[in-house]
Amino acid sequence: MNIYVLLKQVPGTSDVKMDEETGTMIRTEHKNVINPLDENALAEAIRLRDVMPEAKVTAISMGPPHAQKALREAIALGADEAVLLSHRGFGGSDTLATSKALAKALVTLAGGKLGKNDLVLCGERATDGETGQVGPMVSAILDVPVVTYVRKIDCENHAIVAERVVEEGLELIKASLPAVVTVIKDINQPGFPTLSGKLKAKSREIPVITPLDLGLSSDDVGLQGSPTRVVKVFRPRLSRDTIMCRQDSAGTAVDNLISFLEERGVV
Ligand SMILES: Cc1cc2nc3c(=O)[nH]c(=O)nc-3n(C[C@H](O)[C@H](O)[C@H](O)COP(=O)(O)OP(=O)(O)OC[C@H]3O[C@@H](n4cnc5c(N)ncnc54)[C@H](O)[C@@H]3O)c2cc1C
Repeated sequence: MNIYVLLKQVPGTSDVKMDEETGTMIRTEHKNVINPLDENALAEAIRLRDVMPEAKVTAISMGPPHAQKALREAIALGADEAVLLSHRGFGGSDTLATSKALAKALVTLAGGKLGKNDLVLCGERATDGETGQVGPMVSAILDVPVVTYVRKIDCENHAIVAERVVEEGLELIKASLPAVVTVIKDINQPGFPTLSGKLKAKSREIPVITPLDLGLSSDDVGLQGSPTRVVKVFRPRLSRDTIMCRQDSAGTAVDNLISFLEERGVV
């Protein structure tokens, strides 16, 4: 069984700064970390691998060269292998182009087709882009089942049984493998790197894959291969003024307040 974990490196802060001119994120200012839900996906992959001795966990990330650090961390946490999709040609990819590249990488790593026991795990969403589209898109491109919002997974012969959190409660879904599963944080408590994991991570070579290696052109990935256009990105300017209404009677104060709100079109 091959368990692939899609893992994104994201800024380790909620104070994400955007370049208003280019509409892209200023990534260099931040300390980058593994997307928190991807740590859950990785921890689940390791848990499943550890009860199935034949299984192997491969972490895959698409991002700039420094995303290699997140992959080394994944190895330190217990992944067996890691692969980085990195090249200028991938830059500016939207969710569709990202999903195309990741799907193509999965098929390539699997030797042409995902196997009958293969599982792809992702976080439900990434903390920066936050679209939650990549997992379902990868499954659509691969034409395999997807189960989202998963908080528990059991593997059976060529299938998984997953507990899925929905508004009304829980759904129990059985899906044949290969399949894509997106996980939520309730699924587990991610562990810590071990000393042997850290040593392995230091020496392990992380192959870097380019669009050319995947047979992808600029029509498939990067800005040109991305139908989404971010037209404008800006930080809303918030200003707060305090106006004190000091009146003799509550009635006059309320009247003044209503006039004030009416003048501004609030009521
Ligand atoms: C502020 C902001 C807004 C954006 N808005 C849009 C938009 O409206 N439309 C659009 O198409 N793109 C948008 N993008 C680009 C988008 O972030 C990237 O295309 C990205 O690679 C995937 O989208 P996501 O972060 O929303 O991932 P999500 O779909 O939220 O991520 C879900 C899971 O998919 C996997 N995954 C996602 N990206 C990668 C990766 N690069 N490598 C490995 N695994 C991955 C991870 O397991 C992750 O937990 C935006 C980016 C930013 C920073």
